Amino acid sequence: MVRLGRGQSPLGYAEAQAPRFVRELQEFVRMPSVSSDPAYKQDLGRCASWLASHLRRIGIDSVRLIETEGHPIVTARIDVSPSKPTLLIYGHYDVQPVKPESAWRFPPFSAQISGGHLFGRGAVDDKGQLFAHVKALESWFRTQGGPPCNVRIVFEGEEEIGSPHLRPFLEKYRQELKSDGAVVSDTQMRGPGQPALTIGLRGKLAFDVIVDGPAKDLHSGSFGGAVRNPAEVLSILVSGLHDREGRISVAGMYDDVRVYSLTERRRMAKSAPRAAELFQAAGVEEGWGEEGFTAYERISIRPSLSINGISGGHQGPGTKAIIPAHASAKLSFRLVPDQTPERVADLVTKHIARRCPPGVRCRIAIRESAPPVRIDRGSSIVKSASHALERTFGRTPVMLPSGGSIPVVEALDSLFSLPTALMGFALPTDALHGPNERFELKRFHQAIEASIRLLDHFSRTAGRLR
Ligand SMILES: [Zn+2]
Repeated sequence: MVRLGRGQSPLGYAEAQAPRFVRELQEFVRMPSVSSDPAYKQDLGRCASWLASHLRRIGIDSVRLIETEGHPIVTARIDVSPSKPTLLIYGHYDVQPVKPESAWRFPPFSAQISGGHLFGRGAVDDKGQLFAHVKALESWFRTQGGPPCNVRIVFEGEEEIGSPHLRPFLEKYRQELKSDGAVVSDTQMRGPGQPALTIGLRGKLAFDVIVDGPAKDLHSGSFGGAVRNPAEVLSILVSGLHDREGRISVAGMYDDVRVYSLTERRRMAKSAPRAAELFQAAGVEEGWGEEGFTAYERISIRPSLSINGISGGHQGPGTKAIIPAHASAKLSFRLVPDQTPERVADLVTKHIARRCPPGVRCRIAIRESAPPVRIDRGSSIVKSASHALERTFGRTPVMLPSGGSIPVVEALDSLFSLPTALMGFALPTDALHGPNERFELKRFHQAIEASIRLLDHFSRTAGRLR
């Protein structure tokens, strides 16, 4: 067993190399790997190649760049000993779009450092967190010749668009990816200095509602008042999706929602963020949502439905007196145990069909889906992550469900029954998915330290449990 003191240890190395690690992260963040926009396709390929050659440079020989129908997956394996457990590390190198660019303090791909933070799209979601594991591995390679356990790496470029090609990849490489535990760093901490392990993720169902009306845009003077307007129908449909109590008004929506006991809800409330904290992070004065539940419960153990965007008719400057031919909205559900995206898709399709008035046609196009997941908090990987976080931050991590969705976690669970630790380092103030996304350099180094400690603890304890 390797003593994790300072000096010629992985931790000592990481500390000494910290400034270079930051420069490399800046290089990584400067590549505009926006997966949802076809204009960036080449940048994603470039980013994947950069990542693959970086992994080779730190000492891994078996790095592969797997092409998919979408963006490539970077994968690697490190075999140290068959008697040691195997850890799978997952991360994603793709990022969210940056619009509106004018809202950014620094250009989104300039990776500027200011006030101890690295600003840039992907700084924390997920490049900074992914890279922390890479730098932890490097620290093991440079000081001990390799990590203390076997490692499998899966870095994908399609997480932000629902990981459409990840599942086939996992199925195809099932044997090579065989592991004893997985770690995913793509979630948040409870607050500054307070680590957290996420023990549940909401599922997702993203879809478009499309309303088609007249064969082409009509003159509102010639036809206004006599034909149905798709934009108005869409508004009525969309505004009817919630009732006055803040509940989703799709019939059957709550049938499969798991009911938490009062004891469970009290336990969660002890470490959960307060409403005021959430509203402050959101920049709103008051909250909204389902009656009878706290703000935190609304974003974690209850399903939700959000309109993500709405369009139809004339959007440019000035006026254009028309009845638009089409209108559409992008919506997404967040689902909780024991809901399934298939059933909810069926329910909402029927809901919209029943309410579509004559004179227009309404349809639903499903975009992406992922079922909700619950994490086994007793697994050896969760114990190792908990130990690593406690040693790094000097505080026991809180265990809370999160409102987000990460498709890989469900896939690892349903395909491989692989226990996963969701060991995240983002803070709600890091502006994930919004303008001015950032990652605190101090937390980047803490993430590296936690990963070094996780590898050590897992190599010693998971082996014993097998
Ligand atoms: Zn992410």
